[in-house]
Amino acid sequence: MIACYLDHNATTPPRPEAVEAVSRALAQWGNPSSVHTFGRSARRLVEDARRQVAALAGADSAAVVFTSGGTEANNLAIRGCGRARILVSAVEHPSVLEAADDIETIPVDADGIVDLDALRAMLREGTVVSVMLANNETGAIQPVMEVAAVAHEAGALFHCDAVQGAGKLALDFQALGADMMTLSAHKIGGPKGVGALIVADHVQLVPIMRGGGQERGRRNGTENVPGIAGFGAAAELAAAEVATADRLAALRDRLEATVLAEIPGARIVAGQAERLPNTSCIGLPGISAETQIMALDLAGFAVSAGSACSSGKVKASRVLRAMGLEDDIAACAIRVSLGKGNSEADIDEFVAAYRDFAKRAGATAA
Ligand code: PLP
Repeated sequence: MIACYLDHNATTPPRPEAVEAVSRALAQWGNPSSVHTFGRSARRLVEDARRQVAALAGADSAAVVFTSGGTEANNLAIRGCGRARILVSAVEHPSVLEAADDIETIPVDADGIVDLDALRAMLREGTVVSVMLANNETGAIQPVMEVAAVAHEAGALFHCDAVQGAGKLALDFQALGADMMTLSAHKIGGPKGVGALIVADHVQLVPIMRGGGQERGRRNGTENVPGIAGFGAAAELAAAEVATADRLAALRDRLEATVLAEIPGARIVAGQAERLPNTSCIGLPGISAETQIMALDLAGFAVSAGSACSSGKVKASRVLRAMGLEDDIAACAIRVSLGKGNSEADIDEFVAAYRDFAKRAGATAA
């Protein structure tokens, strides 16, 4: 049986155009820092990709700093921006929450939305604020323009982890008001191990790794040319796909309506929040996320609990805990994240399998 993939927030299947771009770039193996013909061909690939990624982000090409992924971009933003005080929302990805010592967390409400008044009260001089565009576990969308305004009023820098928003929401770096923004290629049909930090001119970024001078001294080390070329190809297609997000939202709504109608006790976490069109976090009280995921995998459906980074050690989600949810939901919620390859039939078959499992598990527990 071919498994049905419903875990696109963990990673996405690579687009054929990205695979093709990676493969072509592998053949152009010059070092992009070399001045000869070999080097210049590789440099052209990097600069073409920079334009494609900049277009996805709604930023100037000069603002794009290629990194080894979202994790590095988040670390670079937080540790490299030169601000001693770091405030991040309590529902950030671990690559933000754990990027430095002495990080302070801004509380969120029951839907995982950041508390702007709390942020206002916490702001001091010399601060960087990091709040994600959309949450990887629940899909909840943060009021990032308001966060940026509050941060800037107090002279703080604002970083936005837009990894999960890219390709699903229109991005506009300037309009968002961010000083720095993170992207990751493998969440938009590109290769793993490559991402970008978008950095405004006025941010004096200090690199984490020293020596080499690449990326205008902001990220040292020879560029991952094949990865960057694949990222560029994926970014161009992802930017165009934002217009088709309504189709995903309709699938997501069908999923949630049938789950709520057919599975007693099921609930949608952050259901009242504005959310990504592709993400549902479904709680089934009393049945651990791990049990649910394993049963669904056996039935042919790939879903996850929280972030992929913590799977293999499934425990109560830190994000859901920060939203004030008790363990009967925080340890019993799965994430279903849809992608462009999913159909109505996938949704209907998934709900049927989930309903059968819930019935069996309920019967066992009784
Ligand atoms: N930020 C968010 C919101 C994510 O979901 C992820 C990946 O799960 C990352 C950052 C890390 O990106 P990468 O896998 O490219 O290191």
